[in-house]
Amino acid sequence: MVMIAKIITPVAAMAALGLIFGVGLAYALKIFGIEIDPKVFKLLSMLPGSNCGACGKAGCAGFAEALVKGEAIPAGCVVSNEEARRSIAELLGLSHEEKTRTVATVFCNGGSRANDKYTYRGIKSCKAATLLFGGHKACSFGCLGLGDCVDECPFGAIKMGVDGVPVVDAKICTSCGKCVKACPKNLYAVIPEACNYYVKCSSTDAGAATAKVCKSGCIACLRCEKACPVGAVKVESNLSKIDPLKCKNIGKCFEVCPTKVIVKRG
Ligand code: SF4
Ligand code: SF4
Repeated sequence: MVMIAKIITPVAAMAALGLIFGVGLAYALKIFGIEIDPKVFKLLSMLPGSNCGACGKAGCAGFAEALVKGEAIPAGCVVSNEEARRSIAELLGLSHEEKTRTVATVFCNGGSRANDKYTYRGIKSCKAATLLFGGHKACSFGCLGLGDCVDECPFGAIKMGVDGVPVVDAKICTSCGKCVKACPKNLYAVIPEACNYYVKCSSTDAGAATAKVCKSGCIACLRCEKACPVGAVKVESNLSKIDPLKCKNIGKCFEVCPTKVIVKRG
C-alpha cells in the first residue's frame, strides 16, 4: 500500500502541475498571443520558401508579413517568378508590373590568364586571401578564384570555371544578389539579361599596366566604343562598359576587342 502511494503521489503531482501550466499557457496565449493574418499564410504558400533573405526580411514569413502591412512590394522577392508575383499582387489588390529579367554577372576574365604576385597557401576563402596584401593576384582588381561567391549562392547557380573564374548559370540565377555581397573584390553586378555582351573586367588601371598582369583585361584601346553603332559602349577611367539598356546585341564590340575581354553570355 505504501509502495502504491509512493508511485501515485508524484504522478498525481506531475499531472496537476501539467494542468496548471497548460491552463496558464492557454491564458497567456489568449492575452498576449499575436493574431496571424490568414493572408500571411496564403502569401507564404505563394512565395518560394527559399528563405534566402534577399528581400531584406527575416525569410519568406517576414516578407509575407511586410507585404500585408504594405511595407514591401511583390517585386521585392527577386526569387519569385513572374506568375507568382502576379498572383501576390492580385491577392493584395495591387497592380502588377512586369519585371525585366536580370542576372548576376561576374566582371573579371583573369583567373589562369592573370599573373599571381605570390603563392597563396592560406584557407580557401577570398575574404581571407584579401587580407594578405589585397590577395595573390598581380591585378589588384582580379578574381581570387577561391569561390566565396560559389559557396554563398543559395541556388547553386555559380560554378568555378576551368580557367579559375566563376561562371553563372543564367537559367538558375534568381538575381538574389548574395554573390554581389560575398565578393570582396566587388566583381559582381546584377544586370538586365537582355544584353548578351558584357566586358569581363573591372580594372581601371592604365591599359599598359593591365596588359602587363593579365592576358584578358581591358586595355582601353577604344576599338569597342568606335565599333558600336548604337553608342552602347563607352570607355571611361580606362575601362570599357556596355550599357545593357542601350545594347541591341549587334556584337561588333565583341568582334573587335583584341584581348577578348568582351564576352557573349551563354
Ligand atoms: S568573384 Fe569574388 S568571391 Fe567569387 S571567386 Fe572571384 S574574388 Fe572570390
Ligand atoms: S576593345 Fe576590348 S580592350 Fe579595347 S577598350 Fe574595348 S574592351 Fe577594352
